[in-house]
Amino acid sequence: MKHSRRTLSLAMALLLVFALAPAEGLIPVAHAVTQEQIDNLKNASKELANESSKLKLQLAELKDQRSSAIQRKNLLDQQIALTTQQIDNTEKQISGFEAMLAQTAYELEENRKQEEAQYAVFCERARVMEEAGSSSYWAVLFKADSFSDLLSRLSDVQEVMNYDQGVLDELRRLQESIRAKQEEQEELMAQTEEAKTELETHKADLDQQRTEAEALVAEIEENVDEYQEQLDELNAEREQIQAEIVKKSNELAQQMNMTATKGGYIWPETVSRRITSPMGGRNTGIPGASTNHKGVDIGGVGYTTNVLATKAGVVITSKLSSSYGNYVVISHGPGNTTLYAHMSSRAVKEGDTVTQGQIIGVTGDTGISRGAHLHYEITENGSRVNPLDYLPNYIKGW
Ligand SMILES: [Zn+2]
Repeated sequence: MKHSRRTLSLAMALLLVFALAPAEGLIPVAHAVTQEQIDNLKNASKELANESSKLKLQLAELKDQRSSAIQRKNLLDQQIALTTQQIDNTEKQISGFEAMLAQTAYELEENRKQEEAQYAVFCERARVMEEAGSSSYWAVLFKADSFSDLLSRLSDVQEVMNYDQGVLDELRRLQESIRAKQEEQEELMAQTEEAKTELETHKADLDQQRTEAEALVAEIEENVDEYQEQLDELNAEREQIQAEIVKKSNELAQQMNMTATKGGYIWPETVSRRITSPMGGRNTGIPGASTNHKGVDIGGVGYTTNVLATKAGVVITSKLSSSYGNYVVISHGPGNTTLYAHMSSRAVKEGDTVTQGQIIGVTGDTGISRGAHLHYEITENGSRVNPLDYLPNYIKGW
């Protein structure tokens, strides 16, 4: 269990801190004790910071994965909507062909009835002729009493035969063309039905992919939640360290006979008066950056502005962290500290005594930061207070 091991090492570091704390009544040797204590805190904090930045990186990656999975799911949704429309369209085409084929079937039936009727007429004529005493057309012809009568009779019979034949031929031609039309329509309907089947297969495939994308999103969400939980735990532990630092500053103040004071801060630099982000809730847009801003950001300071101790005190932290970058914490008395973060370099070390206005570092863009700025925090009575109350004539830049 990585997590409990980390907690244990933190607990041991803190234990060591208190084991080394001076016993009551002894003459305090401020620097020796402070350095030991802060070294131990520093190690514990460093370990947490390392783990925190790893988690933040994993979280950012997961969030990337999640947004691309969601994007993929949305694209699939669009494709499914389009395919559904296509299926709808082919269904309309199929019902159109069905209506056309019904019309064609009706035409064929009408044609068949006409042909039947015409054939019946033909048969009836032949029957009547036979009943009139002749067994065939030939009989009619033999009744001719002259050659011209024969020709006339022949012509009449031929004409009747030709007429009947012509009507039947015409009906057959019509039937053929209707059948050809029917075949063509059936062919087109078969093609459309095939297209519809293909579209349905495609849609089933898309549905399957969408289900998978949804499952992936859910899985990533779960991982994100898990990492976020770990990160929250880690942040809680860092807050605990912060509390220990406050405690240490109080002990140090006691050892050095510092008394509790409030206010009396100067600006932490002399170049800019522009505040780009106030204290409190905000949306940073940077993965891993604090959404509950613990101090103010001073913009327009670039990478070369001297950072000044806003009040006299003793440096209790001077280090590089993954979130604050190069930062310095100065204790000014019991529960009273100032913090200066994202500096490009630091000019003081832990245990140093500083005067008000003394240079403690140079502004920069280290740690979780977007563009050069100075992050500045004030703690009084162990709680963070709004630095704007101590930054006269600031310009609102947010
Ligand atoms: Zn800030």
